[in-house]
Order: sequence, then structure tokens, then C-alpha cells
Amino acid sequence: MRLKAIRLSGFKSFVDPTTVPFNTNMTGIVGPNGCGKSNTIDAVRWVMGESSAKYLRGDAMTDVIFNGSSERKPVSKASVDLVFDNSDSTLRGEYAGYNEISIRRQVTRDGQSNYYLNGTKCRRKDITDIFLGTGLGPRSYAIIEQGMISRLIEAKPEELRVYVEEAAGISKYKERRRETENR
Ligand code: ATP
Ligand code: MG
Repeated sequence: MRLKAIRLSGFKSFVDPTTVPFNTNMTGIVGPNGCGKSNTIDAVRWVMGESSAKYLRGDAMTDVIFNGSSERKPVSKASVDLVFDNSDSTLRGEYAGYNEISIRRQVTRDGQSNYYLNGTKCRRKDITDIFLGTGLGPRSYAIIEQGMISRLIEAKPEELRVYVEEAAGISKYKERRRETENR
């Protein structure tokens, strides 16, 4: 499974609808300071269900909405789509038949946040469930950003184990067990 494209609108500095295509298995994003490199990564984490504003470098969840510049007025809504190529059927079960999976998250100034899976409204949990055990997800190792390598090197054994369990595909069973025990 591979991320094919990100479509952003009203998200942080991406006020106008913008599509960022990813045509290869590895992509580097380069550019001058403040051009929106980290905002692109924030967008990916946000759609995959990141629920901490701090992890998205803001104070409140609505801080992801474009809040105006010297030339432009603030907008009322942020929307981001992630388009995944699933032609290798990484996602099994009910998603096995889809060559392309698109997930969208939207938020409005009043704090209403909605998720969509291939155009149909869904819960946050439906999105996070899809990525459990695939190595993708809001805090996954699929996104390696500044400082992460040193955090991994300095991680305590029990922190490191979380990454190993995700790579080995164990984490989704642990999550299911936790859900069952909490019922
Ligand atoms: P660096 O190389 O310094 O890490 P970068 O390319 O990662 O830079 P970003 O952090 O992605 O840059 O983008 C920063 C820009 O995004 C700033 O100009 C900031 O004003 C703008 N920005 C962030 N949030 C919003 C928002 N909600 N509305 C409008 N602009 C925003
Ligand atoms: Mg940055």
C-alpha cells in the first residue's frame, strides 16, 4: 500500500485546493523555511486520526484551519484527502476489492470534525482500525521526521517494543484485546 496523493484545502498554509502527488515509493519534500513541508506531514497525521493538537504543532484542534495572512482572509473549514493505492491488497477484509482507498477529514471553526472513507461518512475508529498493524497511522514509523531517529536511539526498551510490535503486526491484536476487556 502506498500513499498516492494528498489533497489539501484550507489546511494551515494551504488555503487554496492543492494536490501533492507521490509517484514513487520514497519521496523527499524540500524547500525554503516556512514553505509548508511540515504542514504537509501534519496533514497526513491529522487525517489518520491524530487527536492531539500539540502533535500537530497547535494549541487547539481548529488551529489547523487557515487563519489568514496579510493578503487573505481566514477560511471556515479545513479539508484533507489522502489517496492510497491498495492494488497490492494490503488492506484485506472489506477493503480488499478497492484498488484505491481515499480517506478525508474535515473540520469547521465550530470544532466539528468529520471523517469519510471512499466518500462515505465514518467514525474516527473506522479510519484508525484500517491502519492498525500496517505500519501506517498518526504516530507511525512510516513518517520519519526531524528528531525521530535520535528519539528511537534513546528510547527505553518498552518504548522501542511498541515499534517492533507494530512492525510485527501484533499491535492490532493487543488493541482488540484492550477494547474487549474494556467492554
Ligand atoms: P522549516 O524548514 O522551517 O521547518 P516548513 O517548510 O516545515 O519550514 P511549515 O512549518 O510547514 O514550514 O510552515 C510554516 C508556515 O505555515 C508559516 O508561515 C505559518 O505561518 C504557516 N501556517 C501554519 N499554520 C497556519 C494556519 N493555521 N493558517 C495560516 N498559515 C499557517
Ligand atoms: Mg518544518
